[in-house]
Amino acid sequence: MSIKKLSTSDTVKTRCSGCEEVQDHAVIAILDEETVQIQCSACECVQEYERTPVKRPLVKPAPAKKAPARSKADPKAAEKKEWVLLRPNMNVAHAVAYQMDGSYSNKALLLHSAFGLGLVTRVAGPHKVEVLFESGKKLLRCH
Ligand SMILES: [Zn+2]
Repeated sequence: MSIKKLSTSDTVKTRCSGCEEVQDHAVIAILDEETVQIQCSACECVQEYERTPVKRPLVKPAPAKKAPARSKADPKAAEKKEWVLLRPNMNVAHAVAYQMDGSYSNKALLLHSAFGLGLVTRVAGPHKVEVLFESGKKLLRCH
């Protein structure tokens, strides 16, 4: 259903700001998309009038509820599982003490002073390796 917009040949019955009575007003000018100028038939005062008195919804559409960013699998649990799975293959004797300026390749075993035994699972960047520790994955600096 479309609401007919007022045009200059129309009249509107509205409360006049001049004589303060509900009067017939002739539309005398179109001001913009939504507003027209109307003139009171009684006192000839001119006022602006909304030509499409569409009731705008006061309530804004509720923003989509942000679902809590919860991944299906707890990454920590997955890392723990990975650790349990890989741990038997880790030979502590082959682990090298972790040093920030050390160079590590994928699957290298290292021994971190704080996190303990770790397995390089990914070279994450030119100077970063992702290491799986018992406590989870960590990004470590390397050479
Ligand atoms: Zn009037």
